[in-house]
Amino acid sequence: MSDATGAGSRLAELLDPLRAAPAASALLFDIDGTLAPIAPDPEDAAVPAGTRDALRSLAGQYRLVACVTGRRALEARWIVGVEELVYSGNHGLELLRPHATEQELDSSVAHDARRVREFVLDLDAEDVSAAGLRLESKGPIQALHWRGAADEASAEQFAERIAGSAESAGLFPHWGRKVLEIRPVAGIDKGTAVERLLTETDAGMALFGGDDRGDLAAFDALDRLVATGALRSAVRIAVASDEGPPELADRADAVVDGPEGFLEVLHLLAHSGGDPRD
Ligand SMILES: [Mg+2]
Repeated sequence: MSDATGAGSRLAELLDPLRAAPAASALLFDIDGTLAPIAPDPEDAAVPAGTRDALRSLAGQYRLVACVTGRRALEARWIVGVEELVYSGNHGLELLRPHATEQELDSSVAHDARRVREFVLDLDAEDVSAAGLRLESKGPIQALHWRGAADEASAEQFAERIAGSAESAGLFPHWGRKVLEIRPVAGIDKGTAVERLLTETDAGMALFGGDDRGDLAAFDALDRLVATGALRSAVRIAVASDEGPPELADRADAVVDGPEGFLEVLHLLAHSGGDPRD
């Protein structure tokens, strides 16, 4: 019990500078595994009601409250269910501002995103589906999945050939778990997404919370922004899970246990630690 209290007060201490100056602080969160418990089917992911309430309260207090995700921005907002937040989707290629009805595509990639769509349209749809590949349009990114294909190995071989042609066409294949993404640009990740959000927000402090390997890039971005003086300080929170990479905890300022533990962080942030007259 005393341990838990000790950990809680250490966490509160870590968050104190942000709580004392919410108008100068940005809060950035991963969604799956951080705000929303991991669902066996990603389409079933949802953020619990208590977490939604906490996020809504934070949006009214802090300079920026944003979700950073590989999902599309509109899909992210549907899962989180809080209109007041900013959503950076598709690894930063899409931005959905509070209450906006449409996600904005990063204008620098619009031309190449069109080339990605054209490349996929030029594939022989019958061959693709006969090989066991399922096409998913993620806007500026097109994905080919083969999870559950009758012959996953041969579907993957077919995907390799498509990746080769995409590369020859000057596009950027990116391999995930049983998925090939054709991307319009190289080097997009949560780090570029975080940097973009913070560069256009005049915040002196920032916090990022995440649970997975992809979130390490966001931690890197905070390090870079502190090193260049763009941020005064940053807080990195790792959300521990059985599947999460150990490096995330090693790099974090604090580790919490699952989305429930992260909700505690949100509650602490929602209660200002400073004197409101300061
Ligand atoms: Mg995650």
